[in-house]
Amino acid sequence: MTNLTVPSIQHYVNGRVVASTSGRQQDVFNPATGEVTGQVALASVEEVNAAVAAASAAAPAWADTAPLKRGRILSKFKELIEKHHDDLAAAITREHGKVFSDAKGEVVRGLEVVEFACGAPQLLKTQFTDNIGGGIDNWQLRQPLGVTAGITPFNFPFMVPMWMAPMAIATGNTFILKPSERDPSPSLMVADLFRQAGLPDGVFNVVQGDKVAVDALLHHPDVKAVSFVGSTPIAEYIYSEGARRKGPWPLRVQALGGAKNHLVVMPDADLGQAVDALIGAAYGSAGERCMAISVAVAVGSVADRLVEALIPRVKSLKITNGMESDAEMGPVVTAAHKAKIEGYIEEGVRAGAKLLVDGRGLKVPGHENGFFLGGSLFDNVTPEMKIYQEEIFGPVLCVVRVPDFASAVQLINAHEFANGVSLFTSDGNTAREFSRRIEVGMVGVNVPIPVPMAWHSFGGWKRSLFGDMHAYGEEGVRFYTRFKSVMQRWPQTIAKGAEFTMPVAK
Ligand code: NAD
Repeated sequence: MTNLTVPSIQHYVNGRVVASTSGRQQDVFNPATGEVTGQVALASVEEVNAAVAAASAAAPAWADTAPLKRGRILSKFKELIEKHHDDLAAAITREHGKVFSDAKGEVVRGLEVVEFACGAPQLLKTQFTDNIGGGIDNWQLRQPLGVTAGITPFNFPFMVPMWMAPMAIATGNTFILKPSERDPSPSLMVADLFRQAGLPDGVFNVVQGDKVAVDALLHHPDVKAVSFVGSTPIAEYIYSEGARRKGPWPLRVQALGGAKNHLVVMPDADLGQAVDALIGAAYGSAGERCMAISVAVAVGSVADRLVEALIPRVKSLKITNGMESDAEMGPVVTAAHKAKIEGYIEEGVRAGAKLLVDGRGLKVPGHENGFFLGGSLFDNVTPEMKIYQEEIFGPVLCVVRVPDFASAVQLINAHEFANGVSLFTSDGNTAREFSRRIEVGMVGVNVPIPVPMAWHSFGGWKRSLFGDMHAYGEEGVRFYTRFKSVMQRWPQTIAKGAEFTMPVAK
C-alpha cells in the first residue's frame, strides 16, 4: 500500500518528472534512523518503453549537435554540481548512510568525469592519413550509438552514474539511468541539474525500478549499449543476456562486478602508514566500496605488530549518524544488509577464524533503530573460508598471514575477484615486481584505494569485470562510440564562395 506521508520518488523522462503508473513501489530508508523517508516507484515494462521512446526521439538531433556545444552544456552542468555540492552530498548521506565528508568526496570524484567529458571535441578527434594513394585519403569517425543505458549500485548513487552519463552524452548518445532502488533520490537531482544546464529533453532520463526495469532495458532493441556496475552475479547475468540478444545490433555491455581487495603489508613497510591506510580503506563508508580493502595480507614478521596496532584503532572508530561532524563511519545501507554482514561474521567464527574485534550489537545513542554495526577484525583467516572467498561488503577486515612476498602474490592471483589491490613497502624493486606480476586491474603502491583519475579509466580484471572496456576516460569514449573508417576521393573541389566573417561552429 502507498504510504502517503513520505514523498514518492518518481521517474524523469523527456525533461520532466513522470508519476509512475505501475502500482509497484518500495520503501527507501534513512539508514541512520531506520525511518522510511520515501517510496521509490518500480517501473513497469511499459514505463521503460516510454523512456526508450523519448530517448530514441531525442537521439538524432543530439548526435548532430556539435561536440563543442555538448561540451558547453556539460560545463554548465559542472558549475551546477559545484553550486549544489552540499545538497547532493546530504542527499547521498540521507539514503546511503555514509558520512557527509565522504559523500562530498564522492561528488568530487563524479565531477571529475564531468570535467573530462567537457572536452568532447578533443575526445572525439580521430586519425587522418593524407593520400594513401591515387588521391584518396583515409580517416576515422567515432559515431554515437544512439540510446544507451546505465544500471548502477547503491554504494555510489552519484559517482557511478557520473562514470557513465557524462561520457555517453559528450559522445552524442542519449542515456537512461536505472539507479539503485535503495538510494534513488540523487539521480533526480542530477536530472534537474542537467535540465538547468540546458540539456535538451530526452537526452538524460531516469527510470526507477528493479529487475523488471533492468530486463526491459536489456531486451529493448533500441537500447544499443548498457553500462552496469554492481555485484558479480548480476554483472555476469547482464553480460550474458547482452550476448544472447538477437537482432541487427548486438547489445554492447560493460559490466563491472564485485571485489575482494587485498592490501599487502611487507615487513619493511612504514607500519603507521599501513595501519592508517587499512583503517580508512576497510572501514570508510562502512566497507561498502568496491575498492574497500577487505583483506590485509601480513607478510612474515609484520603480522603480530600489525594486528596489535589495528585492534585499538578498530575499537575506537567514531560510528554515528553520517551528518555528525566527527563521524568516521556511518550505518550500513539496510537492515537486510546488516543481517547479511552479521551472518558472515558468524560464519567466520564457525570456520575457525579468530574474531579479535566483534562489531555486532553496537547501539548508537539516539539512533537505536539505525542500521549500525561496529568495525570487525578477524585474524588467522585462510583461503578456504567463505569470509575470505566472498565479498562481505561491510566493515569487516580479514587478516591473512603469509610467509613471504611470493606467497602474497600467489594468494591474490588465485582469487576470483581482481578489482583493486595495494602494497605497502619501502622497497622499490618489490613494488615494481608487484605491479608487474599481480593479476588485478588497479594497483596501489603505498596508496590504499587506487581509484584511477577521470582520464585514466576504471576497471578490474577476472570476475570483477565482464566486457572488454573499462569505465570513463578514453575507454569510456570507445565504449560509447562506434568506430568507422572512411576512404574518400574527390575528383574536383566544391567551390563554396567567399566568406568574410570569422568562421565559427554552426
Ligand atoms: P546489485 O548487484 O545488487 O545491484 C546493482 C544494480 O542491479 C541495481 O540497480 C539493482 O536494481 C540491479 N539488480 C539487482 N538485482 C538484479 C537482478 N536480479 N536482475 C537485474 N538487475 C538487478 O549491487 P548493489 O548491492 O547495489 O551494489 C554493491 C555491489 O556493487 C558490490 O558487489 C560492489 O562491489 C559492486 N560495485 C562494483 C563496482 C566496480 O567498479 N567494480 C563499483 C561499485 C560497486
